[in-house]
Amino acid sequence: MRILVTGGAGFIGSQFVRAALLGGLPSGPGARVTVLDNLTYSGNEANLAPVRGHEGLTFVHGDIRDRSVVDEVTAGQDAVVHFAAESHVDRSIADASPFVTTNVLGTQVLLDAARRHRVGRFAHVSTDEVYGSIDEGSWTEDAPLAPNSPYAASKAASDLMVLAYHRTHGMDVTVTRCSNNYGRYHFPEKMIPLFVTHLLDGRTVPLYGDGGNVRDWLHVSDHCRGIDLVLHHGRPGEVYHIGGGTELTNRELTGRLLTACGAGWEMVEHVEDRKGHDRRYSLDIGKIRAELGYEPRTGFDAGLADTVAWYRDNRSWWEPLKDKAGIPG
Ligand code: NAD
Repeated sequence: MRILVTGGAGFIGSQFVRAALLGGLPSGPGARVTVLDNLTYSGNEANLAPVRGHEGLTFVHGDIRDRSVVDEVTAGQDAVVHFAAESHVDRSIADASPFVTTNVLGTQVLLDAARRHRVGRFAHVSTDEVYGSIDEGSWTEDAPLAPNSPYAASKAASDLMVLAYHRTHGMDVTVTRCSNNYGRYHFPEKMIPLFVTHLLDGRTVPLYGDGGNVRDWLHVSDHCRGIDLVLHHGRPGEVYHIGGGTELTNRELTGRLLTACGAGWEMVEHVEDRKGHDRRYSLDIGKIRAELGYEPRTGFDAGLADTVAWYRDNRSWWEPLKDKAGIPG
């Protein structure tokens, strides 16, 4: 299968590409992958180092908003797996415009090219954040969209655009919505890699508000396995949840990270809560489980231990990124 992977130099996209080329997905090895990525602050060719030079990989440095490059790379593909996005909520609070242009307009540019070139399947990667916040229970795929951050609103808009191209043009699309991911190669501005790298440097870590916000943490390899199942076996025009990790409050997660890094609570600084901070996300994954036999495989303790060990051993990957992004210590 020839697959165009947008955002393939980012955290999750690069995991998908490495797994697709090295046989770490349910569909097995043998895919030919073209990565389209414009290498924003969070995109990093070093994330593809383990597959550099692989005969199945082509890397194109380009923007999903650029119609001509998108047209060129989409021709001849069997599928598009669309990860490229601005992905950090805090950045969307500071400036929402790149979120609208990349996440909404960029998705529409890709959809038009995929339609023009009769690409077999368009697998759109989205997030549980499109539903807003839920105090109890879990969302099923038909829950109303009620995004709260500009990031979540831009992802909700892109989901609706993808589904509209199915209904209007009969395109073969799928949408996956996943919970919070963690793992190797995660840009060190997000909570787990930020806290781990700060603690490894002996710096304090910032905990938002009362620390009671709840997230479901899923290992990135399980997310990519779910995307691969949906790409190959999901029903056209359908939304599938991917989750089933471990629900933790940010305070509980902080406790686990402190223990993993051998630090105490004196290293935690309580900071003002994020504006519009959603209290809890929770996905019902009954549909992907029943239809596609999906189950997460990586337990949180083992996944977190691997992640912390990786950051400990790979300073040369994250130190320049923190400096470049101006992440204060
Ligand atoms: P990331 O920020 O690590 O990676 C995004 C990638 O997209 C980067 O390589 C970046 O260079 C590229 N990109 C951004 N704008 C682009 C543009 N205009 N043209 C081409 N490339 C562009 O993000 P991530 O955490 O890997 O997230 C990937 C996808 O998964 C996103 O769509 C996100 O909404 C979704 N998602 C993320 C999570 C999570 O926990 N991180 C959870 C659910 C869904």
